[in-house]
Amino acid sequence: MDIVILIMLASFLSVAILMSIIKAKDILKNKKNRVTRSGNSFSRCPVCRSPLAQGERVKSQVFSGGKSSNQMGIIESIAHIQGCPHCYPVPREERSCPVCKQSILPTDYLIGRMFDNKKTGKKHLRILGCNRCRER
Ligand SMILES: [Zn+2]
Ligand SMILES: [Zn+2]
Repeated sequence: MDIVILIMLASFLSVAILMSIIKAKDILKNKKNRVTRSGNSFSRCPVCRSPLAQGERVKSQVFSGGKSSNQMGIIESIAHIQGCPHCYPVPREERSCPVCKQSILPTDYLIGRMFDNKKTGKKHLRILGCNRCRER
């Protein structure tokens, strides 16, 4: 009987150790991913205002800078938005900035502030302008 209990304990311990190794790996991965390419689910492209079908994603880069969330559980980061399949990399639709209303080139991008609510899992993006009007 004692041997059976020992075997059970041993197997339980090995599972616990495995789980902690997997968790540690995840934490390491998250630390490395400072710049993440994410497909945000926009209903309309912020660059060309095209309505987006499911699976059509706006290409963007999020610079989280390894920030941790504030008291509200929100992580603020800066996002660069290149455009959707309709306007990037081939501009089949007119690309323009929603802030300065100027048309922008495929090499230009919009700059937004991303609010990532860790409590609700919701992301909110506020467009601040394009690389032209923001850096003028
Ligand atoms: Zn677009
Ligand atoms: Zn602009």
